[in-house]
Amino acid sequence: MGKGFFKVPKAVNDPIRTYAPGTPERDAVLAAYKDFYSKQTEVPVYIGNKEIKTGDTGEIRPPHDHNKVVGMYHRASKTHVNEAIDTALEARKQWSQLPWEQRAGIFLKAAELIEGPYRATINAATMVNQSKTVFQAEIDSACELVDFLRFNVQYMTEIYAEQPESTSGAWNRLEYRPLEGFIYCISPFNFTAIAGNLPASAALMGNVCVWKPSDHQMLSANVIMQIFKEAGVPDGVINMVNADPVMMTEEVLSHADFAGVHFTGSTSVFKNIWSQIGQNIHTYKTYPRIVGETGGKDFIVAHKTAIPQQVATAIVRGAFEFQGQKCSAASRAYISESIWPEVKELLAKDIESIKMGSPEDLTNFMTAVIHEGSFDKLASYIDKAKEASDAQIVFGGGYDKSKGWFIEPTVIVTTNPNYETMETELFGPVITIFIYEDSKWEETLKLVDETSIYALTGAVLSQDRYALSQATTALQNCAGNFYLNDKPTGAVVGQQPFGGARASGTNDKAGSKLNLLRWVSPRMIKETFVTPTDYRYPFMGK
Ligand code: NAD
Repeated sequence: MGKGFFKVPKAVNDPIRTYAPGTPERDAVLAAYKDFYSKQTEVPVYIGNKEIKTGDTGEIRPPHDHNKVVGMYHRASKTHVNEAIDTALEARKQWSQLPWEQRAGIFLKAAELIEGPYRATINAATMVNQSKTVFQAEIDSACELVDFLRFNVQYMTEIYAEQPESTSGAWNRLEYRPLEGFIYCISPFNFTAIAGNLPASAALMGNVCVWKPSDHQMLSANVIMQIFKEAGVPDGVINMVNADPVMMTEEVLSHADFAGVHFTGSTSVFKNIWSQIGQNIHTYKTYPRIVGETGGKDFIVAHKTAIPQQVATAIVRGAFEFQGQKCSAASRAYISESIWPEVKELLAKDIESIKMGSPEDLTNFMTAVIHEGSFDKLASYIDKAKEASDAQIVFGGGYDKSKGWFIEPTVIVTTNPNYETMETELFGPVITIFIYEDSKWEETLKLVDETSIYALTGAVLSQDRYALSQATTALQNCAGNFYLNDKPTGAVVGQQPFGGARASGTNDKAGSKLNLLRWVSPRMIKETFVTPTDYRYPFMGK
């Protein structure tokens, strides 16, 4: 602590701007979008104070317009990866000793920069690079990232304030040290906010990071790095290194000073990382912290008492916003047979009205999926469903990759609760529905619990309080974020800390104290005022 018990500004959620016609934010974001479209952005490798152009490059193309190139990113070599680790460890000497209020000041400034001067830029980069509509970009790259930064600063101070009891003879102090070594942060394509938060949360607690963004988020990752620099994150504290993921991960995980991984992405990649850490355990100076938020097969369960319009809206928003590429997106639903005909009719109306295209056209509700690999995978599952005897495509099922990676919002209805799209994470705008008999409510809850390896999000809709209570108990282990009478997406920092269990992750709840605690190693300091000078205790007297 410096020379005062400083209070940080109370964190409040950044208000979502509307982007309605005539608003200044709409003009600003469209201008920034056009700017990205009309120029070539070159994204370097950031190590310390260096911006390295390695010449080994990848192109940046908007998923909704894949013939267009809007820039390129440079890939790091093995030598660069090691240079980034060395640079981070060098930076650690000063960063880990910097008073916390200085770190807080940097990340509060970063939040302010995103909220104001960088808002249009970071949203536009996310629209161009990850094909988010302006609203999806706004709630992610502006609001959520601002919230992560501000709430984490507040949580950090709350953690530091948690101290043990002391007596008059001894003063006990708990010091929340950063981890000894460096943190490896690996981020996914789908949330700009997550990409920023993975290194920022660890760095806020005094750690140094080597951050590997996704190949499919490089434009917005570059904006994040520029913001960190302008906010005053010192050189070497966060190094942004894009490289071949297998090579880079092998290099990082075999380093003796590797102290932790902060991962968000798919389950299989995380499991591999975990097993590599296990194999290298004798190499490390310290037991690494392993934090990973991974895949999901998120559900909606509609009881016979649910209101059909609410169910239809939960499905459309939950399954199709951002093309179903939220980790929390609804991808399996269980609807009671008595309400299904009405839900189906309402779904038909909604789905018919959905417009899909470029995010630059603000009337679009959906745009393209992230890349050709994802497009091909989704198309193959759709094709299989077209042929299956136990599944039927009731809405959508079309796809077109001529201009962008466009998949229609698709609803499959299956008679087989274990049909493969009820179990496998597809990560696209495809939801599979199983219609259950009203009398089989309890069996259905069991089915929901046992069908998937994941446990990320889930929603139950019902007007019957007993049914909601039953579901809350029966489904207690199959979602880290559980919603009653809502869709399973849209967690807000400070309100619904996010993370799942089972194969969905270590459930360390991004944007909460629980997450920040993983990036510190407490040291207990006991100071005795009158130090004993005789080894004998009173009971030993004659
Ligand atoms: P992904 O696993 O393909 O990639 C994530 C990151 O891992 C990227 O930076 C990628 O380059 C890197 N990577 C890929 N292969 C690797 C390897 N062999 N070794 C080390 N790193 C490797 O995931 P994605 O497609 O970017 O994101 C979608 C996935 O992320 C989905 O499964 C989704 O459910 C999950 N996700 C989960 C959460 C959550 O909070 N639970 C949030 C967002 C995304």
